Amino acid sequence: MGGVNKPDPQVETVVDLAAIAHNVRIVAEHAGDAAVMVVVKADGYNHGAIEVAAAALAAGAREIGVTTIEEALKLRAAGITAPILCWLNTFDSDYASAIAADIEIAVSDTAQLEAVAAAARALDRTAILSLKVDTGLNRNGIAPAEYPRVLTLLRELVDDRTVRFRAIFSHLAHADTPDHPGIDMQRDRFLEAIATAKEHGLQPELVHLANSAAALTRPDLAFDMVRPGIAVYGLSPIPEISDFGLRPAMTLRARVALVKQVAAGEGVSYGHQWIAPHDTTVALIPAGYADGVPRPLSGRFDVWLGGERRPNIGRICMDQFVVDLGDNAAGVREGDPAILFGGDAGVPHAQEWADLLGTINYEIVCAPRGRVVRTYIGGVR
Ligand SMILES: *Cc1c(COP(=O)(O)O)cnc(C)c1O
Repeated sequence: MGGVNKPDPQVETVVDLAAIAHNVRIVAEHAGDAAVMVVVKADGYNHGAIEVAAAALAAGAREIGVTTIEEALKLRAAGITAPILCWLNTFDSDYASAIAADIEIAVSDTAQLEAVAAAARALDRTAILSLKVDTGLNRNGIAPAEYPRVLTLLRELVDDRTVRFRAIFSHLAHADTPDHPGIDMQRDRFLEAIATAKEHGLQPELVHLANSAAALTRPDLAFDMVRPGIAVYGLSPIPEISDFGLRPAMTLRARVALVKQVAAGEGVSYGHQWIAPHDTTVALIPAGYADGVPRPLSGRFDVWLGGERRPNIGRICMDQFVVDLGDNAAGVREGDPAILFGGDAGVPHAQEWADLLGTINYEIVCAPRGRVVRTYIGGVR
């Protein structure tokens, strides 16, 4: 709600922290005894890493996962004291800052482990280290050929207390197809990697494998901890199977900038892709592709406005698009909120955009940017 003097933002993402808490609990129920590490990479899938992490920890999550050291440091600086793991590092990442802030570092090869060791020795502090093993995704993670060398070095570093060996973890390629044989193949390789570490005299404190999809559909893969991302934001990792009772945390909305009449036969927006079949009323929505409303949705999506779905007409522009109100019996006025996607009944869902665009819901919630102001509801305080 706007204050007396300041109107609501023209376009905003409203993030419901109560939905985040609800979704953490749903995942935790599926995870049984396993702990929950909430993944807040990419600024919490564009929901705000700090706010999401705090809400998730308050709801029972135990740890936080991010991609880079920079992301981890921002969370520490914001006062998050829970364990934080970052897993996409390079040989020249700022390991000294990570070690100084008690950030758990994952390495994908020997050069990265050597760099962590050098930074720990220079600081005279013990680094908290995890091994990301590649069990078949063939993206980041230690390649099988490299693994023995990493283990040999790690054994030395553990023995001289340069490193505390926290975890072995891996990431699945086919988690969104719960009965795919590749999942069991990766599980077997994961178990083998843990056994090989033990043969080197290395015992991790914990092991973890499952992302959202696996956490929700393969309880047998929960191990000591699950690492959900998208489910925490209330979107299904496997929408064709179920919504798992998750509640979308993000609502994208904009305030109607203008209501006007368009006469029969007039064209609307660039290229006049839409011609009014009769006299009508239209509303101008001040959000466009620069704000994360993809132009390929032009003429193919609805917004929730005045208690109904209203179709977009004509092309989506950089800053604005138009919807048809017909005779505007509902009396939509300038300043009214239009919901582009969200979680309430009747309101368009991010999944609809993903389906229209041939992409995944992850990309839809990551899109709002630029002028979009993020606000929060449902916080604990
Ligand atoms: C992004 C990521 C996750 C979370 O994936 P979701 O599909 O969003 O649950 C978990 N683990 C790793 C290593 C990741 O990169």
